[in-house]
Parts: sequence; structure tokens; C-alpha cells
Amino acid sequence: MDGPEQPLIVAELSSLLSPAAVRGASATGLMDPGLEGRNLDAGLMVFPESTADVAKLLAFCNGRGIAVVPQGGRSGLAGGAVSSPGQVIVSLQRMNRILDIDTAGLRATVEAGVTLAAFDAALEPLGLMAGIDLGARDSATIGGMISTNAGGIEAFRHGVMRARIRAGGGAGRWHGDAGHGAGAQMQ
Ligand SMILES: Cc1cc2nc3c(=O)[nH]c(=O)nc-3n(C[C@H](O)[C@H](O)[C@H](O)COP(=O)(O)OP(=O)(O)OC[C@H]3O[C@@H](n4cnc5c(N)ncnc54)[C@H](O)[C@@H]3O)c2cc1C
Repeated sequence: MDGPEQPLIVAELSSLLSPAAVRGASATGLMDPGLEGRNLDAGLMVFPESTADVAKLLAFCNGRGIAVVPQGGRSGLAGGAVSSPGQVIVSLQRMNRILDIDTAGLRATVEAGVTLAAFDAALEPLGLMAGIDLGARDSATIGGMISTNAGGIEAFRHGVMRARIRAGGGAGRWHGDAGHGAGAQMQ
């Protein structure tokens, strides 16, 4: 949101979620936009912390005809996270909880903002791995990787993200399989 209406939208979103969950242009202007300089052009970013927050935010934006742009680690190379004035950036950064790792079923449930590196760090002590790897692992999130159908350096062995996701479990939350060593698979 740009121009004179931004303070009003910031105030409404702050009361809908919390003041700490909303950043206007003065704050986004200081952030690293990532590889695509236009990622933060919307100048208004919201940080939901739960699926309920995402639902509230989307209802608010839908009601006012405001377009939203989801962002994870802003490591994408295709410009999918580019935003424009008048839009709201929805950062999944704070939805970074690993909810469950089912070691018997080799299945994990994580929030969309979990980075690939954090997911692998949680799997490693269990003798498991995500079975997908790429240079942006410390920034790229599971949500962003699903959205871009990321492949990476193990794609020929284990497949790309599309082959690893089983089902969405609500906004910002994903269920997938984690696997053992060389046979690793995350669906
Ligand atoms: C150094 C480097 C190496 C890379 N190597 C590879 C590689 O080998 N193979 C490969 O396939 N890719 C590679 N990539 C690209 C990588 O796949 C993407 O950077 C990553 O998947 C995007 O994740 P992100 O969280 O950064 O998403 P962002 O860049 O934030 O967003 C990317 C897209 O996903 C959408 N999005 C983000 N989060 C969500 C969400 N929760 N829900 C819905 N939509 C969402 C955004 O709107 C945008 O369209 C590389 C990138 C870098 C910088």
C-alpha cells in the first residue's frame, strides 16, 4: 500500500493482528529485497504467526480488493515474489515451526516458513534428510520451494518438490515425507 491510504491500512492490520506483525514503507525500505530489487516495492509487509492469522489477513485483503504477494526467503530467481505499490506482502518468515516428524511413517508436518536448512537440521539427529538440496538452503522456505517446484542438486536422484508433497494442511502448513539417507523423499 502506497500513498495517503497506507497509514490507515497499517492501523487496521495492526489492530487485526498486532502492531509487531505489520511493517510499513519506512521499515521495508531498510530490508534486503533479495535477488530481485522489486520484491519489496509494495512497501507494506505483514508477518502472520499462525494459520488463523493468515485467514484473517486474507479475509481483510479480499474484502478490500487488495492483492497479496506471499514471500518466504526471497531467494527465488524468477521474479515470482515481486510486489507493487497497493499490494500487501505476506511474509511467512514467522511461521517457522516444525510441527511433527513421524519417524515411522517418514512424514513431516511443517509450517511454510521453515527454511530447508532448519528442516534438515531437525531431521539429521533422527538419521533422516529432506532429500532435496540447493544453494539457497539457509533462506529458501518449504512454502517457497513448493511454490517454485524447486529441484536442486539431488533432483535427478530424489525428484523435485512436486513429487514430494502429499497434501496441504491449511494455509501456510504443509505435510510431506522425509526419508532415510540416499532413499530420501519428501512429498
Ligand atoms: C543460490 C541459489 C541457488 C538455487 N538453486 C536452485 C536449484 O538448484 N534448483 C532450483 O529449483 N531452484 C534453485 N534456486 C531457486 C530456489 O528454488 C528458490 O530460491 C526457492 O525455492 C524459493 O524459496 P523462497 O522461500 O526463497 O521463496 P521466495 O523467493 O520468497 O518466493 C518464490 C515464489 O514462491 C511464492 N511463495 C513463497 N512462499 C509461499 C507460500 N508460503 N505460499 C505460497 N506461495 C509462496 C512467492 O510468491 C514467489 O512466487 C536457487 C536460488 C538461489 C538463490
